[in-house]
Amino acid sequence: MSFNPQPDRGLRRKVDRQSLPAPLGYLRIRGLLKRPPRAEWVSICCPSHNGGDEKNPSMRVNLVDGHFKCLACGVSGGDLIALHRLLTGVSFVAAVRELGARFQ
Ligand SMILES: [Zn+2]
Repeated sequence: MSFNPQPDRGLRRKVDRQSLPAPLGYLRIRGLLKRPPRAEWVSICCPSHNGGDEKNPSMRVNLVDGHFKCLACGVSGGDLIALHRLLTGVSFVAAVRELGARFQ
């Protein structure tokens, strides 16, 4: 199961990747860090299963580019924009805006 819907493909290419926030800072600000990061990865509670109420975080987020995968339900995405959309349910354009990122 992938979270990246097809219609966003064109817009996705136009996002200035350098303007996206660092994944670690993003997760910290949102209070999602329950455990310290290990190397390039951190585990967070998955919002997609168990009603978002996990005791043992099963979603792995890459701290370099924000791609993620839940080891329990399999939901995945390729960057911080996809993760923000999964957490908030906003549109692609709204996610870019809320993350403070820019289009090229
Ligand atoms: Zn999950």
